[in-house]
Amino acid sequence: MSATENSISLPPELLPEDGRFGSGPSKVRADSLKTLFEAAPTYLGTSHRQDNVRKHVGRLRSGLSTLFDLPDGWEIILGNGGTTLFWDAASFSLIDSSSQHLTFGEFSSKFLKVVQEAPHLGEPEVISGEPGSCPSPVASTVDTYALTHNETSTGVTATLNRPSEDGLVIVDATSAAGAICWNPHEVDCYYFAPQKALASDGGLWLAACSPAALQRIEGLSSSSRWVPAGLDLGVALSNSRQDQTYNTPSLATIFLAAEMVDWINDSGGLGWAEQRCVRSSGIIYDWAEQRSFAQPFVVNPLERSPVVCTVDFEGVDADTISAVLRANGIVDTESYRKLGRNQLRLATFPAVEPHDVQALCACIDYVVDALG
Ligand SMILES: *Cc1c(COP(=O)(O)O)cnc(C)c1O
Repeated sequence: MSATENSISLPPELLPEDGRFGSGPSKVRADSLKTLFEAAPTYLGTSHRQDNVRKHVGRLRSGLSTLFDLPDGWEIILGNGGTTLFWDAASFSLIDSSSQHLTFGEFSSKFLKVVQEAPHLGEPEVISGEPGSCPSPVASTVDTYALTHNETSTGVTATLNRPSEDGLVIVDATSAAGAICWNPHEVDCYYFAPQKALASDGGLWLAACSPAALQRIEGLSSSSRWVPAGLDLGVALSNSRQDQTYNTPSLATIFLAAEMVDWINDSGGLGWAEQRCVRSSGIIYDWAEQRSFAQPFVVNPLERSPVVCTVDFEGVDADTISAVLRANGIVDTESYRKLGRNQLRLATFPAVEPHDVQALCACIDYVVDALG
């Protein structure tokens, strides 16, 4: 960092109360941590096979069913390894032989790669869109459609629509789950990790599964296909039904996720969370549109994410801005490393306070002015 960057010190009255604007891991609410701390002596460091931990797994599973207003027959399953591991598991336990993938950024492309390299699956169909936009699925003969609710690398949100009556619709909802509404009738498997909109820690995956998805999982699990146990969603399903995981989970991650889900449900549910994120992200998009040096990266306002705001800069170096912000305690505003744009990426998950988003914009104005 240059002397200039080091010497720009933001006035304390401009600073947000909480400086965490990362897209994952993301801000964890202080209230959740306080409750975890109070529960810790009889919770952390105790067996995940006993009721005392299982009741929190059950709380998380039923809280998510309420949050998503899941129809009868749907189940929440969970396991270790985060979304990246779930992709591997999906290649064994959800895709029968053929899949269609919408790719429009880093995360959707990574799942495609898993499937392309899997020797037991056929060549997938690919529909790709430019980063910053979002393609639509097309009815086909595939047995699985792989969609992404919110492409965290670019800040694009997709509308989830079932392309065909046949085939499972499986959705990577990692940064959307708990912040953006969706209709279970359009989806069969909505999977995610809790370190983004659910303001918990990483290492866990969760999936809301329709009866059709559960049937596919059980069918492939009992088929002749070789599936490593840790990647077998049938094994995850039977453990989840007992409010357990196949192997030891992070107990703090489960507790913090359950706290966040309860907080959202108690505050008004998923619609409430979405409105809060729309309000926060609107502050950023409106601000960027009013500045000569900034503009929203995503051109179509309907595709702009309410939780991950990508803002392009002109005439001022975005990396310098994020470095100055970081030196002043405002962290993780850097653009997605592989996107290669002069950009900031600012998360407005439900845990983030809208007034802190307002403060963030004022701080960026201050930095740009000081650098100018
Ligand atoms: C963060 C993210 C992932 C990766 O999640 P991990 O839990 O780190 O494996 C996958 N997909 C999307 C859309 C994400 O935002």
